Amino acid sequence: MHVIYGGTFDPIHHGHLRVAVELRERLSVDSVHLVPSHIPPHRGTPGGNSQDRLELLQLAVAGEPGLRIDTRELDREGQSYTADTLRQLRGELGADAPLAMVVGTDSFAGFDKWREWKTIPELAHIILVRRPGSELEEGSAPAAMLAERVTRSPADLHRQPCGRILEMDPPLLDISATGIRQRLEDGRSVRFLIPDPVLEQIRRRGLYREGRKA
Ligand code: ATP
Repeated sequence: MHVIYGGTFDPIHHGHLRVAVELRERLSVDSVHLVPSHIPPHRGTPGGNSQDRLELLQLAVAGEPGLRIDTRELDREGQSYTADTLRQLRGELGADAPLAMVVGTDSFAGFDKWREWKTIPELAHIILVRRPGSELEEGSAPAAMLAERVTRSPADLHRQPCGRILEMDPPLLDISATGIRQRLEDGRSVRFLIPDPVLEQIRRRGLYREGRKA
């Protein structure tokens, strides 16, 4: 099964890395593919540009063959939509290969606002990671989609190419990229929240400091 885990990774942190490792083991796959996304230019906070974020990701996963980086969204011009990324992967993997994407409950709560959201389960499975404090609204369209397709068994995902939603509760570290950027802006320590090589690169490049343009 091919598993993708998308995010801005601005910057990558131990919360992302641990959940990717947990999922790799629970799903019995060789690797999880991290897919860094474009960031809309109007975001307005000091953040990493695509190249910076990618370099930090590369440093974070160096020596960890179970975590790979897929740069297809950065390589494309402008905003990428998940449906397009999945369609492209489906073309490469073939019609029968199981393909799955990881989504947190925070994102899935607004899934019906995603472009071509109803097509997504026809392209891939969804691995829904429960994040405390973000529950699905009862009666909402994403909750209905979940009820129709839910499973708790990873084996169901290996049996078919797409269409199921696997609910998972891996242990999560309470770390957010927003919190890391805030600390860096304030000149506070982010040690032990991110891998040391990532921290060294952030320092070397002077990333995430106030006044720096994204
Ligand atoms: P921000 O604080 O900038 O919103 P973030 O830390 O939530 O960033 P993203 O790159 O936006 O990181 O997230 C990518 C994916 O990782 C999302 O699906 C998000 O739900 C998940 N994620 C973020 N932080 C954690 C964490 N600590 N543990 C598990 N998953 C996480």
